[in-house]
Amino acid sequence: MSIHHREQKNIEKVISHLKNCKSILFITGAGLSADSNLPTYRGIGGLYNDEHTEDGIPIEEALSGAMLVRRPALTWRYISRIEAACRDAVFNRGHQVIAEMERHFPRVWVLTQNVDGFHHRAGSKNIIDIHGDVHSLCCTHCNHRRNVEDYSTLNIPPQCPSCSALERPEVVLFGEMLPPDKLFQLEKILYEGFHLVFSIGTSSLFPYIVQPVMEARALGTPTVEINPDQTDISQMVDVKITARAAEALDAIWSGYQKAMGINPTSGFNGSDT
Ligand code: NAD
Ligand code: ZN
Repeated sequence: MSIHHREQKNIEKVISHLKNCKSILFITGAGLSADSNLPTYRGIGGLYNDEHTEDGIPIEEALSGAMLVRRPALTWRYISRIEAACRDAVFNRGHQVIAEMERHFPRVWVLTQNVDGFHHRAGSKNIIDIHGDVHSLCCTHCNHRRNVEDYSTLNIPPQCPSCSALERPEVVLFGEMLPPDKLFQLEKILYEGFHLVFSIGTSSLFPYIVQPVMEARALGTPTVEINPDQTDISQMVDVKITARAAEALDAIWSGYQKAMGINPTSGFNGSDT
């Protein structure tokens, strides 16, 4: 599948921004993993665009810190669905391109809202997974923590192997605070600044996801959005690419490599072909 020719001009613009670029920030959301067939919550193909969960409540309530305390089994039901979707999927060409670009450019960071761990698996190193990772569990009572490959051997909701209290994934549920260490790290990398900022596959609802784009814009740093849908930031970015994440990133990266006379790493072989 190739990019619509209407978007080709925008791809070219991004490639020209990359030519003298030393540092890139990739802000990513569920739309990037949508190209691995993981459902998003909102926007194109979103699970919960106009609908409540089958428990009759919005997803934001089901996946909230308050609900985990009140009805852990209910919250765990929806957490398990995210994990089950990850288990059946692998990272895609978009994650791969971001990891390859990290190896090519002097300084690349990923700020992701995704809890699927795909950036890590695709080879990115500089990742701030601001909402955590479903594969990391911790006890709600003692200090016990563990990483699990998947949830196939867990009784849901799982109990702490050490004290039998309820376990939870180390993810930020709705209504919970962001981890201070990750926020600190985010502030630090933003302070150091970037030459180019991408916002990919996110409905851009959270201030800490929108702000880096706004700050870049205020400083005159080029900004790019990749999303087949319109979001609140679509009008504000320098380049808006109305396409799917994996194919757009592949087109940008292979176009850049061609323009610079670099041997292309690998062709587009994402799961959405
Ligand atoms: P979101 O579901 O609110 O929005 C997804 C966005 O991606 C939408 O704007 C949609 O138009 C766009 N999109 C859909 N398909 C796309 C594609 N192929 N390429 C590019 N963009 C595409 O997701 P969000 O903004 O990341 O925020 C939702 C919250 O839900 C986050 O807190 C996140 O942690 C969580 N979540 C995570 C996952 C995951 O880890 N993969 C999946 C669903 C939700
Ligand atoms: Zn415990």
